[in-house]
Amino acid sequence: MNMIQRSEKIHRASELIKHGLQSRLIANDTGLSIHSVRSLYKELEQDFPDIRQNKEAKTILTSKWRILDASLLVNLYVQLTKVDNIHHLDVNVLMDAHKLYQRLRMSIRLPQINSQNEISLNEAWLLVSEIKKENATLKNCRCGCRYLFIYDQKVSPKCPLCSLSKIS
Ligand SMILES: [Zn+2]
Repeated sequence: MNMIQRSEKIHRASELIKHGLQSRLIANDTGLSIHSVRSLYKELEQDFPDIRQNKEAKTILTSKWRILDASLLVNLYVQLTKVDNIHHLDVNVLMDAHKLYQRLRMSIRLPQINSQNEISLNEAWLLVSEIKKENATLKNCRCGCRYLFIYDQKVSPKCPLCSLSKIS
C-alpha cells in the first residue's frame, strides 16, 4: 500500500469512527489493521462503541417490535442499494439508510418506538451482513409487510405485524 492509498484509508476510517462504527467493522471495510484503527480512535479522542453491541445478529431480534424496527431499516437499505448488489455490503448506503430510519422513527412516534428499541448502526451492519451471507432474508407476508427473518432467531418466525395486530 503506498502513502496516498494509506492516507485515503485513514480518512475513510476517521469518517466511520465519527459515525460510531466498531473498530472491527472499520478494519474490515478499510483493510487497515485493528491496531491502526484503535490508534485512530485515540487520536480522534472518540470513545470505543459500546462493547455490548459486539453480538450475534440473531440476538438483536429480541421481540416483534425489534423485528419491525430491523425490517424497516433493512428494507430502506435494500431500496437504496442496487437490486443486483444486495450481496455486497455498502457502508455508505448503510449509513444513509440508518439516517433515514432514525428520521422515520422520530416521525412515527408510536409508544413502542422508543430509544431502547432503536437499531444502532453497528447492529444494522450485522443484520445486513447476515443477508449478504444468506443467513437472513426478507419475507413477504400476505398483509403486505416485508419483514426480516434470521434463520436461527429466537422470536417466532411469523410476520411481526400480523402477530402484533392480533394482540391489540
Ligand atoms: Zn403480515
